[in-house]
Amino acid sequence: MSRGDEEPTGQVAAHDVVANTTEDAHPAVPALLRARTEVIERLRALRGGFDEIVAASADSNADDEHDPEGATIAFERAQVDALARQAQSRLEEIDAALSRVAAGTYGRCEVCARPIPAERLAVRPTAQRCVGCVARRV
Ligand SMILES: [Zn+2]
Repeated sequence: MSRGDEEPTGQVAAHDVVANTTEDAHPAVPALLRARTEVIERLRALRGGFDEIVAASADSNADDEHDPEGATIAFERAQVDALARQAQSRLEEIDAALSRVAAGTYGRCEVCARPIPAERLAVRPTAQRCVGCVARRV
């Protein structure tokens, strides 16, 4: 489980995208890079948290007679797993957005090809569709 300081994606392409993306390529880039750093830190924390969960479960076991140690650890591990999967897919969304910046297609709706309004990108920098296409679920 512990893989030191390696970045969780292990994707060489993502590193290239980040390395080749300048902050002035698009107004949303600084937010994307900031979000990417946060997600990577969260992933590291979640993955480093397994040992702490096991240790904490061992400590709290004495005053939790209805919840056997094994079940508690399994439950908390499942929660951490779910959070880690969320963070991982968020990281993939961010990397995909940075790839679109590099490709020059960022900020354009993938369905109707119209520009996604800046206000929407400010709220959701990884948006791939305009509000109209999301609402129509096309
Ligand atoms: Zn659209």
